[in-house]
Amino acid sequence: MAFVVSHFPDGEPILCSDGDTIRIYTSALADWLFVLGSMFSEYRPRDNAQDGELAGAAGAAANPTDGRCGVNPVTGNPGFTRDPVGQPGHLRAPILGEGQWGARRPRNHPPRHTGLDIAGELNVTPIRSNRAGTVTYAGNAGGNGGYIVAIDYPNNVRTQYMHLQADSILVATYQRVTQGQQIGTLGNTGNAGGTPPHVHFAVSVANQGVDPATYLNSPCPQ
Ligand SMILES: [Zn+2]
Repeated sequence: MAFVVSHFPDGEPILCSDGDTIRIYTSALADWLFVLGSMFSEYRPRDNAQDGELAGAAGAAANPTDGRCGVNPVTGNPGFTRDPVGQPGHLRAPILGEGQWGARRPRNHPPRHTGLDIAGELNVTPIRSNRAGTVTYAGNAGGNGGYIVAIDYPNNVRTQYMHLQADSILVATYQRVTQGQQIGTLGNTGNAGGTPPHVHFAVSVANQGVDPATYLNSPCPQ
């Protein structure tokens, strides 16, 4: 049994357990937990940084982004190019609709595609956090997305990773993640059973969808 204490800036203290690990996320009880947590081996010291600052700095050292926003969730490296189509880290092949953001959809689907479908190997490719942030959803959402992780950042930016392999998700809601950290495995859950294997990567700023390819090739939204 492990015991993990994390600093979660704006929330109520949260206690949860995922079997082997008891997790506490706190701001109000941070001082008390500093004493309690120091008694346990996996304690991580609290900090006063905004989400992502510390981990982002560490991630920048390991993964220079050349001014681009975070890393490609399949390659773990900065940037995205459409070609070569169908190769891991690039656009998936155009079977049952196309995978770029804004693509027209087959009949009975929403009129436009709301993410970027990045190709990878089914049930093998690790899916990585675009940058350091806080997990705001992790689990089986059913519907079109299947197993989904959502990660939030400052300035109302959110990334989502859909169709992950069932039960492959490695993170929990309210958990902080670093840039490039594996959050799950590429799968075909939700409505992705017939398309070439991919992760549906979606980005929004203030709840408005933006083109993930542009996002990955530009500085982070301010
Ligand atoms: Zn998609």
